[in-house]
Amino acid sequence: MVMTDEQLEAIRARLQQALAETTAEISEIDEQVRSFGAGEQDASYGVDNHIGDQADVVYEQERLLSVRDRLADRKVLIERAITKMDQGEYGYCENCKRPIPPDRLEALPFARYCIDCQADMDRRQGGGWR
Ligand SMILES: [Zn+2]
Repeated sequence: MVMTDEQLEAIRARLQQALAETTAEISEIDEQVRSFGAGEQDASYGVDNHIGDQADVVYEQERLLSVRDRLADRKVLIERAITKMDQGEYGYCENCKRPIPPDRLEALPFARYCIDCQADMDRRQGGGWR
């Protein structure tokens, strides 16, 4: 392990904070999506009836759901990082198994890969977030 216990504990605290925030954001969005759906979900909703309003609602719902997806992905990454920390495997690239440089972990505490592997993966997947 390339990091000191103090560094690790600081990162663990940040991860737990991020997990709490992300969880709260997700339930906030769930709440909004639910309130949108109320009463407007049945298939009998007329196609030529308030089409503009409906399109706005659909657009807003899709936007919320894509934000929610990103948050859910992040939550998984954070939980995974915390689990790895508990198992003493935190800070190693999941691909090449080399230690991830501490400054990368400081910047992105739930990074799963070293910069080289991440760059590789980004190229293959055509992007994706970090
Ligand atoms: Zn790697």
